[in-house]
Amino acid sequence: MTNSSFKIHPDVTSGLFYVMKFIILTIFPEAFESYFNISVIKRALAKKLIKIQVRNLRDWATDAHKSVDDRPYGGGAGMVMRVDIIDRVLRDLKRKAKSEKRKVVLLTPQGKTLNQKLVKQLSKNKTLILICGRYEGFDERIRKLADIEISIGDYILTGGEIPAMAVVDAVARMVPGVVGKFESTVNESFSENLLEYPQYTRPENYKGMKVPKVLLSGNHAKINEWRKAEALKRTKKRRPDLLRKP
Ligand code: SAM
Repeated sequence: MTNSSFKIHPDVTSGLFYVMKFIILTIFPEAFESYFNISVIKRALAKKLIKIQVRNLRDWATDAHKSVDDRPYGGGAGMVMRVDIIDRVLRDLKRKAKSEKRKVVLLTPQGKTLNQKLVKQLSKNKTLILICGRYEGFDERIRKLADIEISIGDYILTGGEIPAMAVVDAVARMVPGVVGKFESTVNESFSENLLEYPQYTRPENYKGMKVPKVLLSGNHAKINEWRKAEALKRTKKRRPDLLRKP
């Protein structure tokens, strides 16, 4: 990769300046290369606001085949990820880490569903360690090594890599300076248990679909009022459940 601030195998102990660090544990480090090398995340890495380390779980395997999985007791389809490997990785990372606030996140469809409130809570940590599963999932004892189990929705993916990318992307946006204008994360959907108001850009009239007049008025008080009312109307219609949330 050229001109890139994202590294697959950086030293865990380096990088004094970042605001938040993500350590991703996976057997497919290459899955992360393109996504973390574009746009907002790429810039956040370049500005050293965040640091991302992608570590290959196989580096902690001890056999010739570098295996991190084994057959399930009691039989059944597929393999499960081994607790001894994950335990060794986490102990190793802990030994090398400074005494910073960190959370070990297990990515699993059985976890708490990710939402914006959880994203905000996760962003209060200095370091997130994200464990990506593969195969049929984890040896049950791995759950005891994690601080939290997170799902990105009620569907099954082949691995935890896409969920890890989703968590890193959403949490990194909460780090001040990562999103161009920080205010833009304030008005976004879900930030106040509301969906965002409708947005328009040019042309003013597209095939008879017109931009609401108030947005062209230049009257910012009126525009804000309209946006608040539209956000509420939209939320009531599409996601009334959000309005019942604390
Ligand atoms: N057999 C497992 C079960 O029913 O819970 C699913 C295993 S899935 C094929 C393999 C891995 O992908 C999981 O261990 C997890 O890391 C990840 N994964 C799949 N879907 C996910 C989701 N919706 N949210 C978070 N992680 C997911």
